[in-house]
Amino acid sequence: MTLLTGAGLDRAEAFDAVETLRPLFNPRDLRVGQEISVLLRPESDSPDGAERPRLAELAFDTDVDRRVRLVRGDDDKLSAQEERTELTLALARVTGSIDDSLFASAARAGLPDSVTTELIRMFSYDVDFQRDIHPGDQFDVLVERHQDPEGRTLKWGDILFARLTIQDGSLPIYRYAPSDDGIPDFFNPKGESVRKALLRTPIDGARISSGFGMRRHPVLGYSKMHKGIDFAAPTGTPILAAGDGTIDKLGRAGSYGNYVRIRHDGKYSTAYAHMSRFARGLKPGSRVRQGQTIGYVGTTGRSTGPHLHYEILTAGAQINPQGVKFQTGRRLTGKELAAFNARKRKIDGELAEAPILSVMVAEQKTEGPKRD
Ligand SMILES: [Zn+2]
Repeated sequence: MTLLTGAGLDRAEAFDAVETLRPLFNPRDLRVGQEISVLLRPESDSPDGAERPRLAELAFDTDVDRRVRLVRGDDDKLSAQEERTELTLALARVTGSIDDSLFASAARAGLPDSVTTELIRMFSYDVDFQRDIHPGDQFDVLVERHQDPEGRTLKWGDILFARLTIQDGSLPIYRYAPSDDGIPDFFNPKGESVRKALLRTPIDGARISSGFGMRRHPVLGYSKMHKGIDFAAPTGTPILAAGDGTIDKLGRAGSYGNYVRIRHDGKYSTAYAHMSRFARGLKPGSRVRQGQTIGYVGTTGRSTGPHLHYEILTAGAQINPQGVKFQTGRRLTGKELAAFNARKRKIDGELAEAPILSVMVAEQKTEGPKRD
C-alpha cells in the first residue's frame, strides 16, 4: 500500500491492486530490497479532480522461476497472472587448484559461496583448514544446478560429490541418504559418514588466534597453560554446539565470562567462553544438536578482545582438541552399503561425463539484500 500510494496512486486503487494480487501472492512475503516494476498511466479524471496516475501494470519476481504480474485489461479491471520459467536439472563439475583459500579459489572457479560453505563444513571433520591446506591443493566438485531454457544457472542444488586433494592424500566424499532415516549425509568411499561426534571448529569463518599449550598470558602477563583453543572472530559471530548433547552449565563463570558447557554422549564435554550472549531459550538441561547456535562471540570475562575460547574436556580435565581422534559417525553395512555402492558408481559415471563447466550464472533476480 505504502509503495503504491508513494508512487502517486490513490488509496482506493492501491487497495484494489493489493487485493487483486493476494490470491497469487501474500503481500506480507515481500522482502526489503525486493524490486517491483510499476507502469503508470497519466489520468486526469480522478474523483477529487486532482491529476493522479493510474496503475497500468505491476510485476515482480516471487522466486527465481516465478513472476507475478498485475495488468489492467480493456475492461479497465486489474487482473493477476503468474509466469513460470521452466527449470531443468543439470550437473556442473567445478574443479580448480587452491591458490590462497578454498573459499576464494572456489569462487573464481564459479562455485557460489553457499556451496563452498557446505563443502568446508563437510570436510572440516577431517581437514584442519588452518594447517592442512597448501597452495596447489586441488578440489573437484559435482553439484546440481537448475537452469533456465537459455542454460543459465538460476538456482544451485545439492553437492553430489566432492574431492579434496591435499598433501596427505585424496579425500573423496559422496552424498547419500540411507533408506532408514532418509537424511542425506556425506560418506567416504568405504561407506563411513564424514560426520564425527564433535566439530573441530565450532564457529564459522574464524581463525585460530591461540593454540593449546604454554603461553604468555595476554592479560596476566606471565606464562600459563592455555587449556583450550582461541578462535578470533567478530562480536556476534554465532558459536555452534560441537556435538549433540545436553547443556550442563550456562551463565557467568568468573574469568570465562559468559560460559556454556555441553555434556556429549560418551566421554567428552565441550566448553565455550567469553560469549557476548547466549542463544535464546537455552538453559541447563536443554538438549542441543551438532551445529546448533548456542551463543555469540564476545569478550566477557578475562579477555583482551572478541574471541571464542573453546575447550574439550574428558573426565573433568581439558585436553588438546587438535590431538583428539574423534570416533567416526555412521558406518553403512549390508543392504545399505550395497545401495550406497550402487549410488557411488552412478555418481562416478556422472562425474566422468559432466562437462567441466565455466558456469554461466544468471543475474540474481529476486534475492533481496545479502544477509550476512
Ligand atoms: Zn583461550
